[in-house]
Amino acid sequence: MNIKKGDMVTVTTGKDSGKRGKVLRVMPSDNRVVVEGINKAKKHQKPTRSLPQGGILQVETALNASNVMLLCTKCNKPTRGASKVLDNGQKARICKRCGEVLD
Ligand SMILES: [Zn+2]
Repeated sequence: MNIKKGDMVTVTTGKDSGKRGKVLRVMPSDNRVVVEGINKAKKHQKPTRSLPQGGILQVETALNASNVMLLCTKCNKPTRGASKVLDNGQKARICKRCGEVLD
């Protein structure tokens, strides 16, 4: 999986298809990601000290990493992030369309 926390991604399938958001969390062992504003579900919250009234919260739930694509910050298009070894020997992800280094 080539998606990291803080990446901008676009959703390719499901009810949020086409939406964009920032990756809040990655779960590599499950191949799942949590994306800001995507795949929201209602969660019933019991009253707590910090939220005395309780109620229904909208929380992001994880979605499969294969349902999102990395967005290139330069050309603003989804890309299957290719990886490339840079001159300094470090591995980086690049945009297949414009060659921009995304790390
Ligand atoms: Zn690009």
